[in-house]
Amino acid sequence: TETDTWTGQRVKEADREYVIHSWSVQGALDPVPVAGGSGSWFWDHDGNRYLDFQSQLVNLNLGHQHPKLVEAIRDQAARLCYIGPGFAERSRAELAETLAALTPGDLKMSFFTTGGAAANENAIRLARHVTGRHKVIARYRSYHGATNGAMSLTGDPRRWASEPGGMPGVVRMFDPYTYRCPAGHPDPCPVCSGGPHLEEILRYENPDTVAAVIVEPVTGTNGLIYPPDGYLRSLREVCDRYGILLIFDEVMAGFGRTGAWFACNHWDVTPDILVTAKGLNSGYVPLGAMTVSARISEWLRDHMFWGGLTYAGHPLACASGVASLRIMQEENIVENARLRGERLGAGLARLAESHPSVGEIRGRGLFHGVELVTDRETREPLVPFNAKGAAAAPVGRVLKAAMARGLYLTANFNVLRLTPPLVIEDSEIDLALDVLDDVLDLADEHYAG
Ligand code: PLP
Repeated sequence: TETDTWTGQRVKEADREYVIHSWSVQGALDPVPVAGGSGSWFWDHDGNRYLDFQSQLVNLNLGHQHPKLVEAIRDQAARLCYIGPGFAERSRAELAETLAALTPGDLKMSFFTTGGAAANENAIRLARHVTGRHKVIARYRSYHGATNGAMSLTGDPRRWASEPGGMPGVVRMFDPYTYRCPAGHPDPCPVCSGGPHLEEILRYENPDTVAAVIVEPVTGTNGLIYPPDGYLRSLREVCDRYGILLIFDEVMAGFGRTGAWFACNHWDVTPDILVTAKGLNSGYVPLGAMTVSARISEWLRDHMFWGGLTYAGHPLACASGVASLRIMQEENIVENARLRGERLGAGLARLAESHPSVGEIRGRGLFHGVELVTDRETREPLVPFNAKGAAAAPVGRVLKAAMARGLYLTANFNVLRLTPPLVIEDSEIDLALDVLDDVLDLADEHYAG
């Protein structure tokens, strides 16, 4: 038999020589060569195991290598790997029908893409066609994807490099970041409560030119920000008053992540267009979706849909989506996320008692953020916004120490992101809390309060 010469070392050498990694200076990288994964764990070629408290890119909701999901992909591969988007196909039709049933309100028809960015691009273009207007209001603390339009909607600093030539018509509004109100107001304030802030912006922008407002109902990448109660409803009301479409980007927060099927379920607010990806099929095959209201579905019956992709509704991706949603129902995944999330939240609250650097804990389900500060009174962040290099080191050391102890974590500047797979078990939550208890000592060293 042929021996496999691809040792961990060989993988890493070829990777460093030939692979361009996302959002990185290539020479600064030292990627772990991963050999495999199972459930909430992955391991390298030397057998070191890591508890994946990040679910990779917060997409691996069912964990690594869920056997039924792997089997569904294998079955579809044996049946039909690919058929063009112009044909009706079983997995594509079944996934769309299932989404119509699971998504809130009257959301009905879906367009399937290869990921979140492409779904957002299509949502914006469709909103412009449906309304005949061109402006889109998006927020600063947001990430909507890396294609031109999605990057223009994105507020986080990764947008800056793409600004020349970006999509015109994006207007920015502030975020409901009550812990650090962008206008410096105490809580509750007119910015963080949404509606009044949006309406003020509309007054100056001319509401008749605004096609859509796009928000992540719970902000993911940019700091795990939960809106105050009433926020989403007030956006809904203002949008309705001016004939503006409301788009929820639930690429990260959707499909059980927050302990509900969709984050917007917590506040019982339905968008006109729901954008999803990631947890839709746990990322086993690239997939995103744009699901539109009954009214827009009707509109599409006699108007052109100006969008298409070679891989729109790819059968392998759709089959994995169908299987993923079925597994979520059969294995009570949403309930598991809710219950394990309560354990995680309670454990984090205990850590806050002995670690002064914990400024705020935000979370529901398995979508938690820990805001690290050097002073609880002033809320001075442990590292500043957009910190890089030495300025980011105080958080970098925490993450590195966790990895050395077998816990894979990431952060958005000073906010630790705790987003494990939704199949995680209590013992694994407890293990992560033990490691956090140790490594937060490194953050406490900087405490000045
Ligand atoms: N929208 C949100 C809220 C996201 O978190 C992401 C990815 O992290 C995207 C959109 C972009 O998705 P993709 O990377 O699949 O294009």
